[in-house]
Amino acid sequence: MSVIESKMELDSDTYKTLLESTRAIPWKIDWNTMQFAYIGPQIEDLLGWEPDSWISVQDWADRIHAEDRDWAVNFCVAQSKAGVDHEADYRALKKDGDYVWIRDVVHVVRDEDGSVDSLVGFMFDISERKRTEEQLAAARRELEELSFKDGLTGVANRRRFDVVLENEWTNACRNKQPLSLLMLDIDFFKQYNDRYGHLDGDQCLKRIAKLITVAAERPRDFVARFGGEEFVAVLPDTHPSEAYRIASRCRDLIASEHIPHEGSEISRYVTASIGIGTIIPECSDEAHAFIKLTDQRLYEAKQRGRNTIVSD
Ligand code: GH3
Ligand code: MG
Ligand code: MG
Repeated sequence: MSVIESKMELDSDTYKTLLESTRAIPWKIDWNTMQFAYIGPQIEDLLGWEPDSWISVQDWADRIHAEDRDWAVNFCVAQSKAGVDHEADYRALKKDGDYVWIRDVVHVVRDEDGSVDSLVGFMFDISERKRTEEQLAAARRELEELSFKDGLTGVANRRRFDVVLENEWTNACRNKQPLSLLMLDIDFFKQYNDRYGHLDGDQCLKRIAKLITVAAERPRDFVARFGGEEFVAVLPDTHPSEAYRIASRCRDLIASEHIPHEGSEISRYVTASIGIGTIIPECSDEAHAFIKLTDQRLYEAKQRGRNTIVSD
């Protein structure tokens, strides 16, 4: 034996010291008896259960979170039977009733004849990593929500509107149902800003957005800021008369807010003009033309003196 080889030899005491001083927790299960042949004493620090309380595979299964147990046990048993090394993440029960995320990395040890002799593995405490993953997932959800929301008014933004209209368009043509669209634009809003300042203008936009969501309040009604001081409401499965009723409600709610508007040429208070479109789309039709038509009606409402609703 060379010098190097002899240096590589470790006695079993050293192996044991090494194994029991790592943060990973070593264990061994005898395949025939399904009993623990060994588990590192570190397990007690991590989970609180004494090493000699780990007797059989059942103890291991019993100490897995109920939601993770079935798949973790079934997966590990199936992989072990197939003789495949594997790893599983699950929540392990602590003696104090709490849970710790564990990654169990398992190696299948075979006899000379190839049959499974035992399983050896390491349990790693991955709760910190899981926490970070969960925080990341929450941040991602929040970001996604923000990316579809108008930052000022809190209603959906134009991007979201495009997606929702497209979906409702498809639904409406499949189900041969009428789809209505409201486009609302605040009257003389430039003068509002000029008279009261941009910050009050912003407050006004927030109030109007809120009122539109009050008027279009059925579960599938959808309100978005189309841009500037223009808002849209997508009203699925809505006939023209019902769309007109919702538009009137918007107008009435805005009127009853009595938001002073001294720059307006038509009222002492803030008013809005509304165009309404209703269509039972053909699947070959484009939503774009429908938006344009509704926008023309809004324009017509402006032409007719504002504070007006125009439908077909
Ligand atoms: P009309 O009655 O014909 O609709 O006239 P208007 O002055 O409302 O129409 P116009 O589209 O010319 O002006 C819209 C104004 O809305 C101009 C712009 O300064 C203002 N505006 C757009 N976005 C915002 C915003 O986020 N905050 C504020 N305060 N004002 C905005
Ligand atoms: Mg305007
Ligand atoms: Mg405008």
